[in-house]
Amino acid sequence: MRTFSNSASWIIVAGVILAAFWFGYGATERYYLQQLAAQNQSTLRLVASGLQGSLLRYEPLTSLLADKVDVKLLLSNPQNEAQVNRVNQQFRSIAQDIDASDIYVMDLAGMTVAASNYRDKTSFIGRNFNFRPYFREAIQGTSARYFALGTTSLKRGYYFASPVQNGTRAIGVVAIKIGVEEIEADWQGSGADIFVADPDGIIFMASREEWLFKSLNPLSSQALARIKASKRYPIDRLSDLQFDVAASGVADATFATVAVENGSEVYLANQRFMPDAGWTLHVMLPRTLADNRTLTALAVATLVLLLLLLILTFILQRRARLVRDIAAGARAQEQLELRVAERTNDLNIANENLTKEVSERRLAEQQLLSTQNELIQAGKLAVLGQMSAALSHELNQPLTAIKSYAENARTYLKRNKIEQASQNIGHISEMADRMAELGSHLRNFARKPKQAIEAVGLGTVLEGVKNIIGPRLKSENTTLDHSNLDDRLVVSAGRYRLQQVLLNLINNAVDAMSELEKPVVTVFSEIRGDEVALCVRDQGPGLNDKVSKQLFDPFFTTKGVNQGLGLGLSISYNIVQDFGGAITAENHPEGGAVFTVLLKLVDQVEDAAE
Ligand code: ADP
Repeated sequence: MRTFSNSASWIIVAGVILAAFWFGYGATERYYLQQLAAQNQSTLRLVASGLQGSLLRYEPLTSLLADKVDVKLLLSNPQNEAQVNRVNQQFRSIAQDIDASDIYVMDLAGMTVAASNYRDKTSFIGRNFNFRPYFREAIQGTSARYFALGTTSLKRGYYFASPVQNGTRAIGVVAIKIGVEEIEADWQGSGADIFVADPDGIIFMASREEWLFKSLNPLSSQALARIKASKRYPIDRLSDLQFDVAASGVADATFATVAVENGSEVYLANQRFMPDAGWTLHVMLPRTLADNRTLTALAVATLVLLLLLLILTFILQRRARLVRDIAAGARAQEQLELRVAERTNDLNIANENLTKEVSERRLAEQQLLSTQNELIQAGKLAVLGQMSAALSHELNQPLTAIKSYAENARTYLKRNKIEQASQNIGHISEMADRMAELGSHLRNFARKPKQAIEAVGLGTVLEGVKNIIGPRLKSENTTLDHSNLDDRLVVSAGRYRLQQVLLNLINNAVDAMSELEKPVVTVFSEIRGDEVALCVRDQGPGLNDKVSKQLFDPFFTTKGVNQGLGLGLSISYNIVQDFGGAITAENHPEGGAVFTVLLKLVDQVEDAAE
C-alpha cells in the first residue's frame, strides 16, 4: 500500500515536472530568444553606426577633392604629366591619411587620368570606369556612392564619387574607394553572424566569407542584366543562399533558416534598413544558443524543483511519521489505560472474592473452633470415660480382694481362727495402701499447674533421687552411672517435681532391664545452646513403634497388673511442659531407650542459683 502510494506520488511528481517543462519550455525559450534579439539589436546598432560613420566620413571628401585646383587643372590638360604626377602623389598621400583604398580622377569619358595607386601593377590609370553607375551619376553633376567588386583590384569596395565642375559643367569625376574587409574584420568580435545585403538582396559584406555574393532571393533577369552591365559583382559567383524567413514570436526578430552543406542552420535574425545606402543590415545568432540556455535553465529549475520536492517529501514523511508515532503513542496509552482498567476490574473482582473468601474462612474458622470445642469436650469426656474405666479397673481389683479378704476374715473369726483372720485383715490393709497410692498418683496428675519455677541445681536433684531410689537399685543389683552428669548446672524447674520426673525415668529404665544380669542406668547431661539436655539411658529392649506412639498417653502401660498404672510418663510430660521444657524418647543406636528432658539453662555453676 505504501509502495503504491510512493510510486503513485513519484508518477505525479514526474508528471508535474514534465508539465512544467512543457509549459515552461515555450516561455523560457521566448525569454532567451528575446535576449538574443536584444543582443542582435545592440550589435545591429553598433554595426549600423559603424557603417554609417564610414559613409559619412568619406562622403564629403570627394567634393573637397573635386574642388581642388590641381584636379581641375589636370582635367583641363590631362596630357600634362607633371600635373598628373602631382595629383597622383597628392592622392596617394591623402589615401594613406584617410585610410582609403584608392582615390582617383576620371575625365568626361570615364578614363582614369590620375590615381593614388599609380605605382601599383593594378593601377587604375588608363582604365575606363564609365560603366560604373557612380561615374554616370556623378558626371550628371551629383555626388554618388556605390558598392561593387573592383574590376581591377578584384577587391570589394565602396565608392564615393563627386563631379569636378568647371563652372556649371562637369569635366570629370573624383572617386574614393574604401575597402570593406577592415570593417568586416571588426565584426568578428561580436560573436554574431553579420551581413549586409544590397537592394537586390545580394550579400556584399559578410562575417562569413562563404555567404558573399549569395542572394537572399532568387534574382530576376532584369536584376541580373543590370549587375552584368555595371560589373558590380562577378556573375559567375552569384548564387542563391536559400534563406528562409519565418516568424519567431519575438518582436522585430525572425527565424532565418540558412542552407549549409549537410542540412540547414536556424538563426534568430534581426535586420535594419539603411535608407541612405539602400542596404539591409542583418545580424543573426544561432537559435541553438537560446535552446541550450533554455534547456540549461529548465534543467537547473527542474533540479531545484526536485530538490524542493525532496525536501517537501522529507518534511511530509517526517510529519507523517510524527503523526503516526503520536497516534501509536495514543493507541498504546489507550491500551495501557484499558489494561489498567481491566486489571483494576480484575483486582476489584479478586478483592471481592477475597473478601468473600475471608468471610467464608472466618465462618469456617468459627465452625472449626466450635467443632474443636466440641471435640475437646468429646476428648475430655473420652478421657474421663477412659480414666473412669481404668480407675474402676484399678479400684475393683483391690476392692474385690478386700471383699474376699474381709469375708474370709469373718469366717476365720467365727471359727475363732484369730491368726488367719489377722493375716487377712493385714491383706485388707495392704489393699487399702495400694488404693491410697493410686489416690496420691491421681492427686499428682491433678496437680495445680503453673507452680513456681526456680533455678534448680542438677547436683541437688541427683542427690534427692539417689536417696529415694538407692534401696531399689541395691536390691535389684543395678548400677546408676552419673559420671557424665554435670552437677553444677543450674536449670529452670521445680526441685521436687524434677526429682519426680527423674525418678520416673530411672524406675522405667530399671523396669526395662529386669531381665539383665548387670543392668546399668546412665544419667548424663549436655549443654545444647541455651538449654540443658538431661538424659536417662538404659540397655533394655528399647521402644517399638506402637509404644513410641502412645508413650506419653495417660494410663498407657505394657506392664502387668499391679505393676504399672501408665501414668508416670504422662505426669512427667506435663511437669516438663510446666517448666517450659520438653521430653522426648528414642532408641539408642547401640540398643536401649534414651529419654531426654530439655530444660532452660540458668547457669553453669550451682552456687549461683542458691
Ligand atoms: P508404667 O511405668 O506404670 O507402665 P509409664 O507411664 O511410666 O507407666 O510407662 C508407660 C509405658 O512405657 C511402660 O509401660 C513401658 O511399656 C513403656 N516404657 C517406659 N519406659 C520404658 C523404658 N525405659 N524402656 C522400655 N519401655 C518403657
